[in-house]
Amino acid sequence: MTKLPTPTLKLDIDKDALAHNWRALDRMSGEARAGAAVKADCYGLGVEHCVPTLRDAGCRDFFVAHWSEVAPVIEHVPAKQVAVLHGPLNAAEVAYARETGVVPVIDSLRQAKLWAEGGGGPCHLMVDSGINRLGISPHEISDPLVQALDVQALMSHLACADEDSAMNARQLETFRDAIQRIEHREASLANSAGIALGSAYHFDLTRPGLSLYGGMPRPELESEIRQVAYPRAAIIQTRQLSAGETVGYNATFTAPTQMRVGVLSLGYADGILRAWGGASFEAGEKALPILGKVSMDMIVIDLSDAPDLAEGDWVELPYHLPNAAQQTSVSQYELLTVLGNRYQR
Ligand SMILES: *Cc1c(COP(=O)(O)O)cnc(C)c1O
Repeated sequence: MTKLPTPTLKLDIDKDALAHNWRALDRMSGEARAGAAVKADCYGLGVEHCVPTLRDAGCRDFFVAHWSEVAPVIEHVPAKQVAVLHGPLNAAEVAYARETGVVPVIDSLRQAKLWAEGGGGPCHLMVDSGINRLGISPHEISDPLVQALDVQALMSHLACADEDSAMNARQLETFRDAIQRIEHREASLANSAGIALGSAYHFDLTRPGLSLYGGMPRPELESEIRQVAYPRAAIIQTRQLSAGETVGYNATFTAPTQMRVGVLSLGYADGILRAWGGASFEAGEKALPILGKVSMDMIVIDLSDAPDLAEGDWVELPYHLPNAAQQTSVSQYELLTVLGNRYQR
């Protein structure tokens, strides 16, 4: 078989940092154990690269959003350790859950009914405590369909855990009240930011996602969490500009003097959105400003301060998530999940 050409862009995943982050979040979860949100292909970083590392670090509770996300995850961990947050929408999904042993999160009376009609079994139950996305309303807990469920984890989800909002305490109260009203084996409320809100929010199981992958949604996490994802691109061409020449679509950059530039083979199709305009790539200590508009597959950088860089050399986009989010006004979550699949991971 012909060997595939090596890509000129890569997303280096620091697996030690990923394992460190899970352990840090597990420790910060106190008496509770930390699970892992691995939806959206581990927030864009790749299930096959992240799930084995999380498993080997000690994680045994994995959350995906869609049924279509189950198969790659259960290649690495037992199906009964995987839960589907969106729950079953039809009999086929119920049957799939029962065949595989993956645990559905029941989010509505309709889903409770579907699950029971399909034969039922252990499930998680999501109670909405104020975010108004998925989950039964607190007043529905007494419904016989709900009371008949075999609830493994009673769950709810915080809307504002990344802020010092009065809503956090209100949701905690609502969840505590729900806990009294239905049998369950474990309770789970906190996402990454919720872990940093303190022990009252931990219960039995926490569900970090973002912070596993290097996100720091609250300042308390900044000393604990390490960067995991490092986008790097090779210079595929260098060129000399004369003063007055322009770069890229709409000619938004004009060379003030003669200068040397480099062309990188990545762009907004790889999640490096136009919001990065004005930022810089780096090579060692050298900053290499982005010139003109980001294209779909290309970015042009200024090589004035790095005369030694040549075609084939690699440069890095600083991807410390809180800083990158501030720089681009794109959220830390979006910065991870937009990265796309052309990178060699
Ligand atoms: C995505 C998600 C999480 C993880 O949230 P982060 O903010 O990424 O830590 C936890 N629970 C539910 C229900 C989710 O949808």
